[in-house]
Amino acid sequence: MLASNEQKIYIICPVCQKSGWLMVPKEPIQSSQKGLTTITIEKTICEHTFIVYLDKNFNIRAREQIDFVPAPGITFEIKDVETVPFNENDMDLLQLNLYPLTFNYILKSFFNKQSIGIILIKEKEFLAELYNALFEYIFAGTFEIVYKIIGEDEYRHIKEDLNLDIVVKDVEIVKDKDKIITDADLGVVRGFTQRFFKENFGVQSVNYLKNEIKNAYFLSNSVAELVNKKKNLNLNKIIKSLEKEFDVEINVRYGEFLLDIVKNYYGVEVKDIYKNIEFLKFKKLSK
Ligand SMILES: [Zn+2]
Repeated sequence: MLASNEQKIYIICPVCQKSGWLMVPKEPIQSSQKGLTTITIEKTICEHTFIVYLDKNFNIRAREQIDFVPAPGITFEIKDVETVPFNENDMDLLQLNLYPLTFNYILKSFFNKQSIGIILIKEKEFLAELYNALFEYIFAGTFEIVYKIIGEDEYRHIKEDLNLDIVVKDVEIVKDKDKIITDADLGVVRGFTQRFFKENFGVQSVNYLKNEIKNAYFLSNSVAELVNKKKNLNLNKIIKSLEKEFDVEINVRYGEFLLDIVKNYYGVEVKDIYKNIEFLKFKKLSK
């Protein structure tokens, strides 16, 4: 018999699709201030670790594999610590309300020059200004970003007039014209998000994230130049070239992430370069 303070939920692993039942405590989920509760499933129903986002009715709204790509070292000199235009209270609000998965979608959209609509439910509309300030601050001087933060009701009324590539509402993908975030490799942005929301999350975390974005900006610029200049490139050659130029180590998936930026953000043709990526991954694994 089930104890009345527990709820049985059916879970499917997003990686291997194995499934199983799990008992979760009812009370904290139903009274969650945030709306969705995130539960980390650690090697319980299979060998994988992943996160499920549960709503108050115990429906699973999203699942996310926990796998992230290490970022290369920072390739520029970090100047005196910039004064972050946020206080600890703002940071608390961010940590409480901005779901990592939602943030991954937003970052991925920005890096790929997709205009994104971020729908806020009524109770969260007050966050618009804070999100706005965060995005402008972390992307200042690097990638141009296009977004609209919009209330649920307003979105319903004007969605036909909004010409947005992507629309998200919390962890839900409402629209994704070119499948940029659907089933995408979010490993690199997940790494950014993971390090951003790490244990000692605070105003300083914002500058770490800003630096990672700037780093991606410099590195992708360099890749774009290389692709424009040289023929017969492959990802391996690009990674070698970056590693030599900047004295950093670059993960193959980070290399792919840069290539996506070059293709989608800078609009540079990179078709042939992707060719041997699978082979490279295999080589890396079998080392
Ligand atoms: Zn699994």
